[in-house]
Amino acid sequence: MYTLSEWQQICSKISKRKIVTSNVIDAFRKISVPGGELSKTLIIKHDVECRPDLALKCAQIEHDQGITATYYFHGFFNQTPEHVEIMQRIQSLGHEVGFHYDVLDLCDGDYIKANALFSKTLEDFRLNGINIYSICPHGNPLKVRCGWNSNKDFFKDVDIANSYPHLFDIVNGVNVFDNVDYYSDAGYALKSIGDIRDNDKPSDQIDVKVSLDEVLDKDSVSILSVHTHRLCESKMVLRFVKARFGILRFSARLLSKSKFIKKLLSPLYTLTKRF
Ligand SMILES: [Zn+2]
Repeated sequence: MYTLSEWQQICSKISKRKIVTSNVIDAFRKISVPGGELSKTLIIKHDVECRPDLALKCAQIEHDQGITATYYFHGFFNQTPEHVEIMQRIQSLGHEVGFHYDVLDLCDGDYIKANALFSKTLEDFRLNGINIYSICPHGNPLKVRCGWNSNKDFFKDVDIANSYPHLFDIVNGVNVFDNVDYYSDAGYALKSIGDIRDNDKPSDQIDVKVSLDEVLDKDSVSILSVHTHRLCESKMVLRFVKARFGILRFSARLLSKSKFIKKLLSPLYTLTKRF
């Protein structure tokens, strides 16, 4: 949605305007102490998806402007030393590294298997020197589900959430912040998300396109979610990537009208992390 140089300019603007920014866990800890509250704060979070290299570039840009953010990584990145090194470098720049979980989809809605995978992944992060304090569910739009709405359901399970008291889920727990607005570039346009916690079910809340300036002008707590795998090197590449996403989304929606094709496409759901 942005080029790297555009993101650099945005960070510079945030810095020059002295807008208070925070990563997720620091904001949560501020309001968790007795009498704790947050005045105008921009909480910045990133879903890294398939490009840790771009996340690192983004992390360096933010660090240079005195901004800290949270970077949500999928668990499989723990298996490759070069990606572990990137997570460690991002953490050493003062950012938070969180877990972008999709365990319920990976385990086809089996909560026991999903919990075992979730727990093992936290341990993988820990052994790699990454202590996870906040988590964020991943979407997987192509996945056909029966018996669960999305990965958000995993941490909505009270017993599961209670067994990880040190973890904060930025989506399921979003309402701990007063008057919070959640902005996301998930659909390649920046939108104010009507109900980020429960928009995996039928809802009358709608998402509204907004400009970044509107977000920066907000007087309350805002959460800005930017996908770093889409931070392109040039405007031309960004146009191409946007057009490709539009075509793929249109095709997927058209094909998904057939229940048969929808089922055929479902096993490909992990590919959507690339776009
Ligand atoms: Zn995601």
